[in-house]
Amino acid sequence: MLDKVLIANRGEIALRILRACKELGIKTVAVHSKVDRDLLHVRLADESICIGPNPSAQSYLNIPAIISAAELTDTSAIHPGYGFLAENADFAEQVENSGFAFIGPKAETIRLMGDKVSAIKAMKEAGVPTVPGSNGPVPTDPAECIRIAHEIGFPVIIKAAAGGGGRGMRVVHNEGSLLKSISITQSEAGSYFGDSTVYMEKFLQNPRHVEVQVLADGQGNAVHLYDRDCSLQRRHQKVLEEAPAPMLDETSRQACFKACVDACIKINYRGAGTFEFLYEDGGFYFIEMNTRVQVEHPVTEMVTGVDIVKEQLRIASGLPLSMKQEDIKLNGHAVESRINAEDSKTFMPCPGKVDYFHAPGGMGVRVDSHLYSGYTVPPTYDSMIAKIICHAPDRTAALKRLSGALDETFIDGIKTNIELQKELVNDTNFIAGGVNIHYLEKKLGL
Ligand code: ADP
Repeated sequence: MLDKVLIANRGEIALRILRACKELGIKTVAVHSKVDRDLLHVRLADESICIGPNPSAQSYLNIPAIISAAELTDTSAIHPGYGFLAENADFAEQVENSGFAFIGPKAETIRLMGDKVSAIKAMKEAGVPTVPGSNGPVPTDPAECIRIAHEIGFPVIIKAAAGGGGRGMRVVHNEGSLLKSISITQSEAGSYFGDSTVYMEKFLQNPRHVEVQVLADGQGNAVHLYDRDCSLQRRHQKVLEEAPAPMLDETSRQACFKACVDACIKINYRGAGTFEFLYEDGGFYFIEMNTRVQVEHPVTEMVTGVDIVKEQLRIASGLPLSMKQEDIKLNGHAVESRINAEDSKTFMPCPGKVDYFHAPGGMGVRVDSHLYSGYTVPPTYDSMIAKIICHAPDRTAALKRLSGALDETFIDGIKTNIELQKELVNDTNFIAGGVNIHYLEKKLGL
């Protein structure tokens, strides 16, 4: 097992990683920006180092500072969490070249999956169902672009190969606006991501967002941990997630699980990962793979009993997977509300001092949060301050439990989205199950 892990992240996920390390007897190093010295995990870690001023570029994205901190503390591995450097292949490479284990896939895998064109190609070859599309970058010949769009059928979506965070995408409804949309998306992609490559895909009109969690050890073993539904989104940001995904076609669901596991083995995947799909009319369509632990991983942990972060640590130690597919059983249903420090009307982040924080409790209630009374939420980073996860024998009971847990949650001093979350878990259409990715924005009148 690893001896000491440096946690290259902040907030709730840093605390989550610290807890897993403690349970495995691994020593921890917290690195933090100036404003973050009062974070809970910084206080709890065996060692802590300030790596720079508050802006992420100078601290949590500062690769030389992080690697120097690992050297200074004689760390054995670096856990990137999610966001920041988690999917940065150059970081993974530099970590490994400096003699530390990177807790995640090999740099080449991150690179393969980070470029959506190469990711889709690799997944298609491995038998994962993909969205009908241009099978590569859009061609330079305009007539050929028009031909492909007609072959796919309008509407189509033009997407940046290097895209992320829901940026660099444009929906095209007819031939008249196709070529202009391609060139605008190309120039946007160039300026946002430094790569103007774009590709074309069928635009699915009312899909759900369904994703499959996997674990692989890079030694020929891979398993899936079933699915999650994350269709409740605002501006492509997930708001509430659940596991398993309700009301799917069971035959295509099982085929999709198998394809994901086969793909992991084919690309020799290492670590935890998520295959993201759009799901429409009983079919799965791969859109991208996330090569890291996800925000919503707890819902999967609750229904499978598998500690995903501990598995990541075991895999990075060179151990084989601690379970076989047949050992992983689905037990009940879990739902997660993301609690953000934000204005309920404008959704603008509302940082500030938390005068009082009371977390909910009781059977099947889990709170992943770095919040405590007196903590000041800085304006510099993501506004998510807590995840409230409820597990129960079935979906209806899990939603009821979450509704009660939200009623019990008190965060005084700052504005949060708790009221919106309460509304969502009591929304009749959501309770009925299977709402699509546009549901929340329509409900909010956006
Ligand atoms: P990003 O990496 O920026 O999150 P994704 O490829 O995951 O990009 O797409 C983000 C979101 O854009 C999806 O969750 C979905 O809402 C929408 N989207 C992407 N591709 C399609 C498509 N082919 N049809 C319909 N919606 C799509």
